Amino acid sequence: MKKLMILIILSFGSMGCEFDQTLEYRIDVKLEKHVNQFFIEAEKRGISLYKENLIVSLQDCYDCVGQSIKIGEQRLIKINKDDICWIENQNNSQTAIENLIFHELGHTLLNRQHNDPKYSIMASGLSLYEYANDSLKRTVLIDELFYSR
Ligand SMILES: [Zn+2]
Repeated sequence: MKKLMILIILSFGSMGCEFDQTLEYRIDVKLEKHVNQFFIEAEKRGISLYKENLIVSLQDCYDCVGQSIKIGEQRLIKINKDDICWIENQNNSQTAIENLIFHELGHTLLNRQHNDPKYSIMASGLSLYEYANDSLKRTVLIDELFYSR
């Protein structure tokens, strides 16, 4: 009995100050195909990523287009719903949305920072939608995203 008590205390002790976290995988339907594409691009390059702890949602996002947040093991991406509405009405909107989602997932899942001087999906405030009709450019950019971690 005494041994059991010690074991119980030890197992609590080993948790330290972490809280018991229920991880969630939930992606807004409007953004799902781009998030799935990100995982496909990772897999193509032999990179396996955790798929259990990601929430990507469309919501109000004050003064931002997208935001990447980490809470413990949970990864969250907020995408400004008004911006998505606006982008959807532009030319090459699907590429623009892919670009935005890949950028935020770069922060969230690849731990990438902004990469201003380079031609990169991780550059801040740079629109790269021009790769819409250029699959080679797209490959170069996505290679850079995954391989420059
Ligand atoms: Zn960013």
